[in-house]
Amino acid sequence: MSDYDFDVIVIGAGPGGYVAAIRAAQLGLKTACAESRETLGGTCLNVGCIPSKAMLHASELYDEAASGKLAKLGIKAQVELDLDTMHGQRKDAVKSLTGGIEFLFKKNKVEWLKGRAAFTGKDVVEVAGKSYRAKNIVIATGSSVTPLPGVEIDEKVVVSSTGALELPKVPGHMVVIGGGVIGLELGSVWKRLGARVTVVEFLDQLLPGMDGEIRKEAAKIFKKQGLELKLSTKVTGVTVKDGKATVTVEPAAGGAAETLEADAVLVSIGRRPNTEGLALDRTGLTVNKRGQIEINHDFATAVPGIWAIGDVVPGPMLAHKAEDEGIAVAENIAGLTGIVNHDVIPGVVYTMPEIAGVGLTEEEARERGEVKVGKFPMLANSRAKTNHEPDGFVKVIADAKTDRVLGVHIIASVAGTMIAQAAQAMEFGATSEDIAYTCHAHPTHSEAIKEAAMAVTGKPIHI
Ligand code: FAD
Ligand code: NAD
Repeated sequence: MSDYDFDVIVIGAGPGGYVAAIRAAQLGLKTACAESRETLGGTCLNVGCIPSKAMLHASELYDEAASGKLAKLGIKAQVELDLDTMHGQRKDAVKSLTGGIEFLFKKNKVEWLKGRAAFTGKDVVEVAGKSYRAKNIVIATGSSVTPLPGVEIDEKVVVSSTGALELPKVPGHMVVIGGGVIGLELGSVWKRLGARVTVVEFLDQLLPGMDGEIRKEAAKIFKKQGLELKLSTKVTGVTVKDGKATVTVEPAAGGAAETLEADAVLVSIGRRPNTEGLALDRTGLTVNKRGQIEINHDFATAVPGIWAIGDVVPGPMLAHKAEDEGIAVAENIAGLTGIVNHDVIPGVVYTMPEIAGVGLTEEEARERGEVKVGKFPMLANSRAKTNHEPDGFVKVIADAKTDRVLGVHIIASVAGTMIAQAAQAMEFGATSEDIAYTCHAHPTHSEAIKEAAMAVTGKPIHI
């Protein structure tokens, strides 16, 4: 009998960790997963993807009714905001999905080790005062909010994304520090529910890392929606008195400071990997300059038997990337071949309209060689036009010589759903011609992808 307690211990039950644990168990490995939260599912299910989408969905419906958009369709309604019920449905969504993971653990015989795990050796972790030895240990500890030096998050007036999901009333004025994904999603929620929202972004554009043209179009649309954007501006301090905040900002390049009065301040300047308290020094593992654990193509760290996935390793901090890595690492541990194609990871911002992209941005693609670009505006897509959703466009970037699709970027009401076909096409090595000659159902927003692909060779029909 082996002196190991488990074949695999996964540390962290977020989308990376819980998926890795389930797949390892499915492959016949004796598996445990350590999680210190009260519920499984990690950041994503508890305080991230799911509760934010619950608030985005509900606030979008409220906005459609309250702003008169429904009235234009002949639907007249007396609208009243019941924020407690809106929060209630958010909590219900979280409860049912986190409970679902607990059910899946039981079904697959994954043992939940409740508590914080710390290494006491290369193959031993301690959880809640008990030691467990495992042949393989997967670090899937995720990430948490990056603090802004000098700004104290009290989760009441100055909030992280977690506090911003739970505000008990609509703030009069919300200042959002950071015009990235979280700032725009949660800023949109409170704007729709009636707050004045000012987004302060250090860079000269929103949404770093996304395609340049998409970033410009997004800023135009958000301004039209009434978000106040202060680009190229940095926050130098926040003070709180009697439940109100004073935010000091100044031009990023230097210059005169000004102050903004706010009822709520959201700090959303990024997230950093969770490695504190793991006692990595007892394994010989170190972190890189960004605090991440480095891995090879197979998700193995520098220490044999220790693996790492998800937000704690380099790459985009996205739930689906963590999930795919979770499957792949379990398959590698089981002696199979687990692979994630990191060149084809879609990203979606769930604002209205949604913003989605996969593959290279136009800027990145042009740096690598000659490209052809096809664009198609949503205004010319029959379904978007009929649904009164004219904002945005689709852009397909293809290699000029081979026509292979290198990137697809979309702003459209349902961009997050549309991007799946682009990711699949790219995974299969599609050319723009392959997409252009694929029959798309009519009338759908997805026809705009077909037309943008046709535009790569200059032959769209509807513009
Ligand atoms: P996590 O989900 O962070 O899970 C790690 C878990 O490990 C945590 O539960 C933590 O408690 C536990 N843990 C840490 N250390 C220990 C320890 N020592 N012992 C035991 N347990 C430990 N991504 C998307 O793709 N789509 C979205 O729509 C989206 N929306 C988001 C909205 C918000 C507001 C936020 C904050 C994030 C959002 N994300 C979204 C990002 C997504 O949540 C993360 O990329 C994803 O959760 C990462 O998964 P993970 O498994 O690596 O880590
Ligand atoms: P982010 O990196 O997307 O955006 C942070 C922004 O803050 C950047 O634009 C940056 O330039 C700006 N910034 C940094 N310091 C600043 C300062 N001092 N003053 C003003 N601006 C400053 O980070 P985030 O929005 O906090 O999100 C964190 C992570 O969570 C992201 O990596 C994202 O992938 C993930 N997430 C994903 C989704 C989704 O997939 N829909 C939703 C939410 C979060």
